[in-house]
Amino acid sequence: MSVRVVARIRPLLKSELEKDQIVTSHHHHGSDGAPTVIKIPNPKNLAEEFSFQFNSVYEQSATQQEIYEAEVAPTVKHLFLGYDVTIFAYGSTGTGKTHTMRGGKSLADRGMIPRLLSSIYRKSRAIEKSSEGDTTVAVSMSYYEIYNDRVFDLFEAPEKRTATGLPIREAEGGKTVVVGLTEVPCRSLKDFEALYDKANANRSTGATKLNSHSSRSHAILCVKLTITSPTETRVSTASAIDLAGSEDNRRTGNGKDRMVESASINKSLFVLAQCVEAISKKHQRIPYRESKMTRILSLGQNNGFTVMILNLAPVKSYHLDTLSSLNFANRTKRIEVREVENEPIFKGPSRPVTGAALTGATTQRQP
Ligand code: ADP
Ligand code: MG
Repeated sequence: MSVRVVARIRPLLKSELEKDQIVTSHHHHGSDGAPTVIKIPNPKNLAEEFSFQFNSVYEQSATQQEIYEAEVAPTVKHLFLGYDVTIFAYGSTGTGKTHTMRGGKSLADRGMIPRLLSSIYRKSRAIEKSSEGDTTVAVSMSYYEIYNDRVFDLFEAPEKRTATGLPIREAEGGKTVVVGLTEVPCRSLKDFEALYDKANANRSTGATKLNSHSSRSHAILCVKLTITSPTETRVSTASAIDLAGSEDNRRTGNGKDRMVESASINKSLFVLAQCVEAISKKHQRIPYRESKMTRILSLGQNNGFTVMILNLAPVKSYHLDTLSSLNFANRTKRIEVREVENEPIFKGPSRPVTGAALTGATTQRQP
């Protein structure tokens, strides 16, 4: 069971100014490899910075291809060995979760999901070919959203939705299943793309009824792989999740509906954070039963691989939300006093004190 937590800083949007950038990426002390550290000013004292360490950090210029190759492609071989794989995109609304997972239409812009499917189909064909048809790989999928702790099938037309959503039930082996969820066989990347586009349109149709609904729900795509050889059948699942926006709604929202949404989003993201931490620290007990999403995913139960991509906007207007995302992913942050590049002031014969002299002062502190 393993978990990687990586951060991705999205580029500036046209409406954002270079001078408002506050999120920066850095190498770990003494390392000259790729950056793994994110720094952000302390909103209460701008002369200080918080720094957060990740498994990897992707800068504004990182491409979909780079992130896919480094973070997602390596999990594909595990999937074919029978392990489950889970990829999350976490972050406030507007930080690039959907861009990362779904991406744009052009080949270069394609996100993690279509790239993952493309790899799965390519590998399936290769296995079938090299076994001369003795081994077959069947791919099927389900796609649903969890909104206010209710499960809705995204492969169903929105008119067919019931207010309470689909029920969940305990199945054998301690697994939790969603009753009545459509599972669609899907034989090629082309089939997948048609299916996925249609389902995503269902998602936004539901959205007109409720303001910015899609940022208030978790969208979960499950790809089930069944590999049948003459001697055994192996089933594994890849789950790709575009999480609800993690912004703090106590600041932005009001009204009763928003409060109910916020409470359920906060709760599920909180439990998710606890699960990810428990898995990464190899705790015996993973509190996955405490929210519907982690229960359905049985996160941490299946000896699988989990990758959490933390999406971040680089600018000031997201300052508090960015800090809360960083805190979510990494509780062992450091605070450092920044090197302020003031002119040194010489007073008499004593040694001048410059900003650089202060940088050794690194303490552990909560913001
Ligand atoms: P979220 O799903 O987290 O709300 P989006 O994926 O919709 O955020 O991204 C917000 C905006 O930023 C969109 O206009 C999107 O196209 C743009 N964007 C996000 N990430 C990138 C990126 N890596 N490169 C280019 N544009 C991006
Ligand atoms: Mg989105």
